[in-house]
Amino acid sequence: MAHRVLVIPGDGIGAEIMPHAVRVLQALRVDFEFDYADMGGCAIDEHGTPLPPATLAAAHAADAVLLGAVGGPKWDDLPTDKRPEKGLLGLRSGLDLFANLRPALLFPPLADASSLKSELVADLDMLIVRELTGGIYFGEPRGITVDNGGRRGVNTYVYDEREIIRVARVAFDLAAKRRRKLTSVDKANVLEATQLWREVVAEVHADYPDVELEHLLVDNAAMQLVRAPKQFDVVLTGNMFGDILSDVAAMLTGSLGMLPSASLNSAGQGMYEPVHGTAPDIAGQNVANPLATILSAAMMLRYSLHEADAALRIEKAVADVLDQGLRTADILPAADADDLRPVGTDEMADAVIAALPRAP
Ligand code: NAD
Repeated sequence: MAHRVLVIPGDGIGAEIMPHAVRVLQALRVDFEFDYADMGGCAIDEHGTPLPPATLAAAHAADAVLLGAVGGPKWDDLPTDKRPEKGLLGLRSGLDLFANLRPALLFPPLADASSLKSELVADLDMLIVRELTGGIYFGEPRGITVDNGGRRGVNTYVYDEREIIRVARVAFDLAAKRRRKLTSVDKANVLEATQLWREVVAEVHADYPDVELEHLLVDNAAMQLVRAPKQFDVVLTGNMFGDILSDVAAMLTGSLGMLPSASLNSAGQGMYEPVHGTAPDIAGQNVANPLATILSAAMMLRYSLHEADAALRIEKAVADVLDQGLRTADILPAADADDLRPVGTDEMADAVIAALPRAP
């Protein structure tokens, strides 16, 4: 049976890069059925809403969603509930995508692009699993009130054990297939909600005796991430801590243009997208790095479509083109380097396709 993939190119460089990611998938000779839908700014222009009902229905019907990026200055002045990002949030909650996977993988030829010393990050390969649909970003009560003449802002950090168990299982399953180490990050010395987080993660651990579990407080985790990031394999954490730590981990790898991500639900359905946005400053100039989207397509093959070999072929091809010295502007060092070749979006994607190892 063909894999049904819903492609949502979106706006700016999202729409510019997506045809290249689809070309890479087509070159694999895996059986796909591609469907296309609008979301974000282009959907506002075409349908008057950032998430047309037909897009959500198509996402439900697909095995996986491959998304570019949405947004841009054209839609910045719209009211919050009409903005392009609302489409993204609607898709996440509509598909119940509760587990966000953000790998921080440093391809050895890019070690110099990191903000840390290259020996600290060379061959870094860690994965942050962030709970995406609960925690303080969604907890009630919330809001700003005026009491006794003064203003008061309230948010609520809340998790129930069902939410913790399901995301912990995703993280343990992933750790079991990697280097079998899981670090759960909380603030259990101060926040009761995260004391429960720690307890429940320890209970789920009973089902994964082969995975080593450690608990870290979030302040220590932040410090360790910039001190010795290679100690981590899989890091599991809640929505807010994950938001912050995954951006720190992203910087370790150098460029936004290299970072893929996945968001999964309990049916294994997922949405796959680069971490970067629509980059209006460079959109339409054939300079954007297409590798984050291409690597997101590889994650889709691995985590939703069970095509691990095909995923590996894409990742090997990306490693190969970087080894060959091809660099888009964002990963080109400032100093002249004779062994590097500056390329645009098209040429980088062509090179990945040419470097794809043959199917076994
Ligand atoms: P951005 O990620 O679009 O760009 C930040 C900087 O990184 C820019 O200088 C950009 O040129 C550069 N950059 C990003 N991706 C790149 C790539 N693939 N190759 C080379 N350089 C790259 O973030 P921003 O500027 O804060 O946001 C721009 C728009 O994107 C906004 O409308 C924002 O809301 C939206 N956005 C969307 C998503 C999403 O769809 N998931 C995520 C973040 C931002």
